[in-house]
Amino acid sequence: MTDSSTTVRPDRRAELAAGLARVRARIADACAAAGRDRAEVTMIAVTKTYPASDVVALADLGVTDVGENRDQEAAGKADEVAAAGVTPRWHFIGRLQRNKARSVVRYADVVQSVDSVRLARALDAAATGRDGPLPALVQVSIDGDPARGGALPDSADPDAGLGPVAEAVATAPGLRLAGLMAVAPLGWEPERAFARLAEVYESFRSVHPGAVALSAGMSGDLEIAIRYGATHVRVGSALLGMRPTLR
Ligand SMILES: *Cc1c(COP(=O)(O)O)cnc(C)c1O
Repeated sequence: MTDSSTTVRPDRRAELAAGLARVRARIADACAAAGRDRAEVTMIAVTKTYPASDVVALADLGVTDVGENRDQEAAGKADEVAAAGVTPRWHFIGRLQRNKARSVVRYADVVQSVDSVRLARALDAAATGRDGPLPALVQVSIDGDPARGGALPDSADPDAGLGPVAEAVATAPGLRLAGLMAVAPLGWEPERAFARLAEVYESFRSVHPGAVALSAGMSGDLEIAIRYGATHVRVGSALLGMRPTLR
């Protein structure tokens, strides 16, 4: 299979290996600085805009978890990767419309971006008949701006409040509430954003003690996220290179 779409060129493989070594060192250093066990933090390689061949190469280098943010791109990529005989854990991390739930559930092993009761219900319906409940994280809006996605902490909004969304996921037979996800808002110091997130996570955990995942931190701020308790960091550009367009 020399010219298969999932064959990676040796120079690209070397580039990915170098990126991976740098990111792994950053995570290890951040865990050491925070007095945390390195095994508590999972790195998700965010492969959006990059080809299936990069996913296969990363898996070959030991990456177990990959993230994608658009169904249209991810569905085909997941098929190509599976056809190459590689089975990473796929995390869906982008804004998701209810009419895409069925497609996403076909390949996603985890959905990190549940931010409304209606989306939780659509995913629950789509996940029925799956091998087991689909692990789902509730995405939280740290700045409370509903326009940018994320459930709203301290809001009683019946569709978008964090409490109602978490409850809808927790009680859905097709889903398993796994934790929270967030992105530091534009214009916020990551320090302030993740300190706020840690407070939200703490009160969330008092209601849902089994939902331990905290997905926070990207290429630019993973150290700070780890300091504030992230169990999953989602790393794209530091690993794969700068993306051509801003997503
Ligand atoms: C693209 C993306 C990332 C990765 O961002 P980088 O800055 O490239 O590391 C993480 N999380 C989400 C939700 C993303 O869309």
